[in-house]
Amino acid sequence: SSSTYPVLDVVVIGAGQAGLATAYFLRRSNLAFVLLDDQPGPGGAWLHGWKSLRLFSPANWSSLPGWPMPASQSGVYPSRDEVLDYFRRYEERYQFPVDRPVRVQHVTREGEHFLIHTDRGVWASRALVSATGNWSNPYIPCFPGADHFKGSQQHSAFYEDAQPYRNQRVAIVGGGNSGAQILAEVSKVAQTVWITVEHPTFLPDDVDGRVLFERATQRWLAQKEGRTVDIPAGGLGEIVMVPPVREARERGVLVAERPFARFTETGIEWDDGRHKPVDAVIWCTGFRPALQHLVSLKIVEPDGKVQVNDSQSVKESGVWLVGYGDWTGPASATLVGVMRAARGAANQIARYLAG
Ligand code: FAD
Repeated sequence: SSSTYPVLDVVVIGAGQAGLATAYFLRRSNLAFVLLDDQPGPGGAWLHGWKSLRLFSPANWSSLPGWPMPASQSGVYPSRDEVLDYFRRYEERYQFPVDRPVRVQHVTREGEHFLIHTDRGVWASRALVSATGNWSNPYIPCFPGADHFKGSQQHSAFYEDAQPYRNQRVAIVGGGNSGAQILAEVSKVAQTVWITVEHPTFLPDDVDGRVLFERATQRWLAQKEGRTVDIPAGGLGEIVMVPPVREARERGVLVAERPFARFTETGIEWDDGRHKPVDAVIWCTGFRPALQHLVSLKIVEPDGKVQVNDSQSVKESGVWLVGYGDWTGPASATLVGVMRAARGAANQIARYLAG
């Protein structure tokens, strides 16, 4: 029974930016909590960013609550390593109780408590925050013939740099920021073709990721005041013209074609019979929420998400979801945007636990 485990107020699953931002506010409420994270060290998905990855906003627009990210020493936009360093120091600064590597397998309800079953034992808590992000659930669309294609296939989740593609013919599939940035890099050493469902949408050159936050804030205010607003959704789908992407445009490689119909053994083929030989495909086709551990609570819907009110689960009121995307709060999948969602969740949790 649950009485064999010390029962915490809150267990937070995932210690990426969403988990850490939530921890910051839980700590201010003096709640007893722990974070469980399956990675070897601090950083969440940033541990897996490609080598040249930089934030699309300056440091002061990319901060977690409480302690701003130090300005980049290597350019306007912080590098992956600078982000990782910030996360490590952020955890140290607030002495967050992060247990890692601990992989949460499933969660069950035992009367008043949740039992969190992991590869390193069982935790118990009265409330639960899921902040597991999307990185560990990469999405690849189905294309006929993909199994027979003899070339290599890789998702952007595992892309490190362009070296393996040197002198190859590479199809880059996906019209978001990952697709544009990986295309920019790979096209320097390989022959590329860029495949996007629709014509890619580019933000103006003089605008960076900040505009996405500004729009999110306007939508959030409007939502709070019950207004509807006509502001472009501006998810992470719109392409920010970071310097490498601008440079790719100068080289004339930033030109996209609509999707092919099928794979052949040696390449890709369109319905009009056109065939293009390719050696490799890089899928920059995004992610789905990593919610496998919540399936046992019967709150994961057929669309792979959980129904939420703000960020609280509708079907299991002791569970909060933080991060993931706009469905858990405007811009909550961004560094600066997650603060609002995290603060809201922590406040609700404190009220919930106070009964
Ligand atoms: P994550 O960082 O994925 O953290 C979740 C953590 O939980 C991970 O450590 C994960 O391993 C762990 N976990 C998952 N499942 C389990 C489990 N069952 N048990 C235990 N642990 C588990 N945002 C910006 O604001 N600015 C940017 O410039 C920017 N650039 C981006 C570039 C790319 C290429 C991508 C993909 C995203 C970018 N984003 C950016 C968006 C966002 O910042 C990241 O996606 C971010 O990683 C989301 O943080 P998170 O905490 O929600 O998830």
